[in-house]
Formats: sequence, structure tokens, C-alpha cells
Amino acid sequence: MALYRSRSSRSRSIALPLSVSLNVLLIAVLLWPGGESSEVAQVAAKAESVEVTEAEKIDGEVEATEAAEAAAPIDDAQDDDHQVTVATIRGSIPQTMAEAAAPFGDNVSATMSRLLVWDLDLRRDLRAGDKVETTWVPGTSDGVVIKALRFHSQKLNRTIEAYRFQAAGDAYPSYWAPDGTEVPHRLRNSPLDEYEQVTSLLRDRPNHHGMDFKVDVGTPITTPFDGVVTRINWNTAGNGNCVEIRHQDGVLAKHLHLSETKVRPGDRVRAGQVIALSGNTGRSTGPHLHYQLNQGSRVIDPIDYHGTDQRTLPESDRAAFEQVVAAAQARLDAHSEP
Ligand SMILES: [Zn+2]
Repeated sequence: MALYRSRSSRSRSIALPLSVSLNVLLIAVLLWPGGESSEVAQVAAKAESVEVTEAEKIDGEVEATEAAEAAAPIDDAQDDDHQVTVATIRGSIPQTMAEAAAPFGDNVSATMSRLLVWDLDLRRDLRAGDKVETTWVPGTSDGVVIKALRFHSQKLNRTIEAYRFQAAGDAYPSYWAPDGTEVPHRLRNSPLDEYEQVTSLLRDRPNHHGMDFKVDVGTPITTPFDGVVTRINWNTAGNGNCVEIRHQDGVLAKHLHLSETKVRPGDRVRAGQVIALSGNTGRSTGPHLHYQLNQGSRVIDPIDYHGTDQRTLPESDRAAFEQVVAAAQARLDAHSEP
């Protein structure tokens, strides 16, 4: 397990698309408040407004659920499979990638966006002329795996870099900056110690009220806080097996799509106690945990409630990681224009 860095993430809004699909991006663009209309933004909203699918419109219920992307990780792909895409941002990332990474533009765009959202508000911070360089491998199903990403942001006046690497003690690969800082942030006191990826943030879409973690079926879920189990397995058609816990401050925590519940209504639970195993039950098209917090009728963003941290790679992983970085950089440099 990689080490947690004491430095916590900034609390500024992390806005959007850790999206499960391109459509989430589209929704987010559509939701854009009217005032902040950069030219890039307007172009993006105009072009994408026609592409919202029926599937996205269904999510009107309080416990609306959605799917974690089903893309299979592919880490043993041959070098020949590596694609390199170098592009200059024109409009949105989906628009740019639709052309630059065809026919995998949607998948590259969605996956890339999940890496950038921690540093950039993709609705507001893109600038025409931002430069993106990425290596990726097409998946056998409907996904892609990004191996490396360099994104030069004029807004930030720096290059965001992310390299895929699995730390020795981790169950899943993640993405790390060259200095060993993990690119995606993690909830403090997360209900899951290990997961493949956060595929949806609360702010991704209006009718989706939770944070989604893509994770293998059967992974233990712990309650991050002391509380009392208020109910289990309600609305199973949508939620699948589910557990609701009332924290001592009155906040209700909902855990959906479980394969198995380990508690009963009325049980007192202690922080760190296993309450369920993750699954793919109810309205869900891929194994994931939907984690939702409510205070009264209000939905709370887990990012705000928990706070977040960034991990750092242990020293023992550094040499292997630096080789991965060097190889990826060479591959990108070979394709990049001066
Ligand atoms: Zn969800």
C-alpha cells in the first residue's frame, strides 16, 4: 500500500467528470451556469447538447444508480498495441479526442477526464491551445487504458503528468506524477481501502447523488464512522442489496449494489467495521459501490464531508516507477512536435 501524504487536498470544488461515460461530461457541460462562458465552453455546450442519451435521463430517482464503466484493465498488452495521441485542445476534451483518438475518442476522453478533474475544472479551465499527449491501449471490451498522460494547461501554467503504475502493496494500478504523488485524490476514512477508480463524483450530474467506486465484487466495505444501522435492502430493484447507517451527527450513509450485507437494522457499528461486501446488484451494469450521504433532505458531497488526501509512492517502488515514466516519456517525445 502506498503511503499517504500528510498534505491534504485543496478544498476548492473539484467539479465534474470522473465520469462513467462521455455522457456524464455532456450533462455537466449542459449544466454550466450561464455567466462563465468562455468561448471554448460555449462551443462545447453547443456541440454536445444533442448527444445526451436516454440512458442518462433515466436517473431521476433519489437512489438513482448507474454503472461503473466496464472497461477491463489491460496491463499485459503488447507494445504494438500502444497508441499515441498528441493533440491541441479545440473546444472540449470529448470534441478534441473524437477526432484525435478516433474511433476510441469517447473512451479516451472519459478516462482522461478522470485524471484531470483533480487539478482542473474541465468546464472552465480549458484553453484553446492546451496540449495533450497520451499513450493508451485499446481494450477488448468497450474501454481503453491510458498508460501515460501529459496535459499542458495554460490556465495552470504547468503540465499535469500521470503515469499508470501499480504500487507493490496495492490491489490495483493507479496514476502517479513523476515525483511519486498519486494523481487521483482519496477520501479520508474511505469506505473502501482499495478500489480501481472513482468513476463518478457527486457533481458529475444532477440526479446522481453519490460517489461511485469501481471495485471488484466481494471487496469488504467498512463504515468510516460510528453509527447505527437504520435499514438494509430497501428498493432492491434499483439499489440492489444495500445498507444505510446513521452517523452520530445524524448524517445517513447509503451503500448500494452490494453482493452481501453483514449487519442488521438496529446494529451499532464502529468505525472500521466491515458492514458489507461490494457487488453489482440492482440497477448497475458493472461492479461498483455507490456511496451516498444525506443530511435530512440534503445530499452531501463525500469529498467535503470526508476531506481528501493524496498518497505518495513508497521509496521501494521508485526505481521501477521511474523506468515506467522514462519509457512513457520517450514514447511521447517520439511522437510530439517540437
Ligand atoms: Zn452511483
